[in-house]
Amino acid sequence: MTTPQFPSLESAIHALFGDETEIETTSRISGGDINDAYGLTMTGGSRIFMKTNAKENISFFTAEAAGLAAIAGTEAIGTPRILGVGTDEGRGGYSFLLLEFISAQGRSRHYWENFAMQLAAMHRAPATELVLNGKYGFGSDNYIGSRRQINRAHESWISFFRECRLEPQFQSAARYFDRDDWKKIGRFLDHIDEILVEPEYPSLLHGDLWSGNVIVGNDGSAGLIDPAVYVGHAEADIAMTELFGGFPPVFYDTYKKAAPLQPGYERRRDVYNLYHLLNHLNMFGRTYLPEVKYIVGRQ
Ligand code: ADP
Repeated sequence: MTTPQFPSLESAIHALFGDETEIETTSRISGGDINDAYGLTMTGGSRIFMKTNAKENISFFTAEAAGLAAIAGTEAIGTPRILGVGTDEGRGGYSFLLLEFISAQGRSRHYWENFAMQLAAMHRAPATELVLNGKYGFGSDNYIGSRRQINRAHESWISFFRECRLEPQFQSAARYFDRDDWKKIGRFLDHIDEILVEPEYPSLLHGDLWSGNVIVGNDGSAGLIDPAVYVGHAEADIAMTELFGGFPPVFYDTYKKAAPLQPGYERRRDVYNLYHLLNHLNMFGRTYLPEVKYIVGRQ
């Protein structure tokens, strides 16, 4: 199903709730990195979630909606229902994404075990129809944070990861590297097929799976938000969960029972996370440079 697109916030509200409905209150929600987030309460009492950005950045939201729709399509794990995207001329012009409002009442029993099983089920769901003319990638490009993520289809996971993930990030970060660094980077990229492995099955990935992008759903179970989806190797999602603190051990134990990791995952984890570290280097600056160099140097 394609996401409804609206020419104004008011037209979206009227289409969703009827012509008599107005927005009664708008409250700011903190926590996002890229967009402004709000809870909107309607005159009838319904509540929805809205993210906004500059009008010209509507592609952030069409891409996010496509990602949420792909996750929902697996029927494996919770994710907020998409209500619409659009642009509005008010306040100097802005784009918006409207989602079901999630107001967690607390985590359900066995939250982490269930989350692990649901994520494994998402990773095991059929994913081939999400990519055209290849096995890995996605039907459209999207964003990782505020940076464009290329999802051009590839037959090989390893070449997809090299050409659509690492190489563009290294190129964008070129100013941070000297000749000696480039020699090491070149050697590393040339030998990446000796480090990474082809997956046993292609998986839909969340793509940016850190704790801030897992929300406790209305039923107390985990829900995925703010995705940067593509079809790839499931272990890249697991690697990302370990980058900024990690989830409790029971999550990993349960996940591995449901979807065993291929041998040698620990070494590959750093290579997958190099993508996110490079992305942070490109978005936030040189704090991330030592870790990037360390991982490249170790391979
Ligand atoms: P950004 O795109 O700027 O990173 P996020 O998607 O992380 O924004 O969302 C910003 C904040 O809004 C986070 O604190 C998140 O927990 C909250 N949030 C995200 N989606 C919903 C939702 N559907 N309902 C209620 N709160 C949400």
